Amino acid sequence: MTASANPHRVIPIARQDAKSPVSMSQPIKTGFALEALPPLSLYIHVPWCSSRCPYCDFNAHQAPDEVPEAQYLQALTADLEQALPLIWGRQIHTIFIGGGTPSLMSTATMDQLIAMVRARLSLWPDAEITIEANPGTAEAKKFTAFAASGINRLSIGVQSFNDTHLKALGRGHDAKQASTAIELGLRAFDRVNLDLMYGLPGQTASQWKAELSTALSMGVQHLSLYQLTLEPQTVFAKFPPTLPDEDVLSEMEAQIEQAISAHGWDRYEISAYATVKERSRHNLNYWTFGDYLGIGPGAHSKLSFHDRIERSVRTRNPEQWMQSATRQDGSHITETRRLSPADLPFEFMLNALRLRQGVTTRLFEERTGLSRLALSAPMQLALERKMMTSDPSQLCATELGWLHLNTLQSLFLDDEAAHEG
Ligand code: SF4
Repeated sequence: MTASANPHRVIPIARQDAKSPVSMSQPIKTGFALEALPPLSLYIHVPWCSSRCPYCDFNAHQAPDEVPEAQYLQALTADLEQALPLIWGRQIHTIFIGGGTPSLMSTATMDQLIAMVRARLSLWPDAEITIEANPGTAEAKKFTAFAASGINRLSIGVQSFNDTHLKALGRGHDAKQASTAIELGLRAFDRVNLDLMYGLPGQTASQWKAELSTALSMGVQHLSLYQLTLEPQTVFAKFPPTLPDEDVLSEMEAQIEQAISAHGWDRYEISAYATVKERSRHNLNYWTFGDYLGIGPGAHSKLSFHDRIERSVRTRNPEQWMQSATRQDGSHITETRRLSPADLPFEFMLNALRLRQGVTTRLFEERTGLSRLALSAPMQLALERKMMTSDPSQLCATELGWLHLNTLQSLFLDDEAAHEG
């Protein structure tokens, strides 16, 4: 439901596929070694939604009349158990239950899911456990039970507080239901995030200002703000609505900066806003090149070992994934790819540069096993273009670099042509 929480939106694995996929049975010498393994997160995908939004390109599917919850839980259990040998002895720092709309699942199933995970994995005592929810009334009523199961953070897909815009987005809730869900969410959880979108069909800058002001007045701890974009293979790509022009979008972005700073929060990542204490630890683990195991259809994983880093992807179709995961023969994993040292600078910087403060150069060495010298050539280019700050101990984009983030990230591709851009 949110771009940031779902690993497949963080790393465009399709681009990486151009470089010879390597299976686990075909070891290659990668030439690097990790001193310590990074923090490990767990992502659990639930693929069903009550209806499909016209702008959505996530692995989300219209829910059948009866969601096969028991079968789904059994498949998640089988998926997790098959992955256990890859993460033996490691503790889980954060869990994110995303989708789709996981809050569609019954409270009993969610309780069994959390218990199933706890029985098989060791969780940090204060592990952050987030669930995504939509503001539909039936789902909001479940919040107290979700919290009682051990979930301690809620992310609500509000998207807008304006009924006209919600309708244009094909959302199944209205502004009143959104407000009620937030109230119920705040009663059940200490930490609540709202997803909101701007640049909506027919939206004016003053309407967006009002939306922002409403969101910030709700008493939530975190906002994720996304500009609506027309993604390929969506209904909006086929029948594009009229969106605000560049000038209006710039004004909306300026309003965000102004409102967030007046509220005493930071924009700590491209789309994420909160105080330091309320930052999303799960997403921070993605952005700092931490590890994650993703289970469920279409889920992506990135796992480090002392001598290698691997990415893998699971079967995307929910039915096929359920069948193959339950067979326990490994066929639910469609691709496993070992990252080469040449991939790592781009992979690392793609994430790290999203952070306003960047990361330390030392973290690059810890997480990739490479020397900082591996960044020398692209860093030189970035410095010449004034897109990164000159502190050698910190990898951080300047304002200009952040404004042209795609160009800056592409400097770190292992591809001479990309450096010409
Ligand atoms: S609620 Fe809409 S946007 Fe969210 S995952 Fe489902 S279809 Fe996609």
